[in-house]
Amino acid sequence: MPKGCVFNVQRYSTTDGPGIRTTVFFKGCNLRCVWCHNPESYSPKPELEFNRDLCIGCERCVEVCPRHVHAAGGGQAAHRENCVACGRCVDQCYAGALTLAGTMMDEDQIMREILTDVPYYRQSGGGVTFSGGECMLQIDALEAVLRLCREAGVHTAVDTAGNVPWAAFERILPYTDLFLYDMKAYDPDVHKRLTGVDNRRILENLDRLFEAGADVWVRVPCVPGANDGELGHIAQWLEGKPVRRVDLLAYHRLGGGKRALLGIKGGVDFDVPDAQVMDRYLQPFLICGLPAKHNA
Ligand code: SF4
Ligand code: SF4
Repeated sequence: MPKGCVFNVQRYSTTDGPGIRTTVFFKGCNLRCVWCHNPESYSPKPELEFNRDLCIGCERCVEVCPRHVHAAGGGQAAHRENCVACGRCVDQCYAGALTLAGTMMDEDQIMREILTDVPYYRQSGGGVTFSGGECMLQIDALEAVLRLCREAGVHTAVDTAGNVPWAAFERILPYTDLFLYDMKAYDPDVHKRLTGVDNRRILENLDRLFEAGADVWVRVPCVPGANDGELGHIAQWLEGKPVRRVDLLAYHRLGGGKRALLGIKGGVDFDVPDAQVMDRYLQPFLICGLPAKHNA
């Protein structure tokens, strides 16, 4: 039974597809967007988070860790690189300063979470969305749970950045009702500078999804000073293609606090675009006749 590493199951989501949805976030991502707000999704494995503000200095973690990750005298999580995510220190940390991001779950465990809210899906035209990270990197677990959703009559959406082999799409196409497809830049060099990879395969896969007749909503993160110069090019590339909806998503700054919990150094914060700025970003999409809106 394939297991997936899941770092969050968000119920009652209204922003990840139609209706009321449960969004299942898989860990592991092969992009490194400079504006990322989910850095806990980088690694495909469970990992330790430490919130210094909650720590009361009891040093139980120092006593129980078999890998000497925590040092006495204020050195909690000082040697994170040795952590194997066994969870012993987390269980002993009554202050809640230590947590694990990511749990290994098989398809039956994931389905139990999903099926809890079936009445809400039915009433609202909702369902389940698989997101991340890049959920398609855990294709065995994803395919298995998508199949079960299809058998249970639950509407399915897959939120992807598309940077995976086309063969992965072929495996899940029969069980996926909707793709939420991220486009971050049009120019391959700009895409590489902003995300760490160029976008040739991403654009190719999106074209192939259109050819396959898939239902696709394109999602475009809008980050002032990073990808705003690309938005017009993205609109032009999409013009005339059978995209059902384009959502422009305003950048927000949740990533900074999460980087601190994980001990990730660096990272950049950008300006948060207000409704007026997002109105301006929307214009090229409307001019190209696309069914676009923004969320600001
Ligand atoms: S167990 Fe938790 S509260 Fe106690 S020292 Fe370790 S991190 Fe801090
Ligand atoms: S999760 Fe396990 S290995 Fe990691 S720091 Fe805690 S006790 Fe040590």
